Amino acid sequence: MTHLTSPYAAPTIIYDTATGPIEARLCPGCGLPERLWKEDGGRGHVTADGDSYCCRGCADQTGCTCV
Ligand SMILES: [Zn+2]
Ligand SMILES: [Zn+2]
Repeated sequence: MTHLTSPYAAPTIIYDTATGPIEARLCPGCGLPERLWKEDGGRGHVTADGDSYCCRGCADQTGCTCV
């Protein structure tokens, strides 16, 4: 992960699974993998700028409420 195609790209992590590696986004606020996001049915909280966070708490920087 040494090159980013966009300065706005969310950080990602690669998981090795039984069916092959999958890429998942990480919350830019707390680093929580997307698969653990709970808000909006798992899609997380999307800001007006189009950034995806695990929850509104991270987007507003008031603290993650996912745990
Ligand atoms: Zn977060
Ligand atoms: Zn959260």
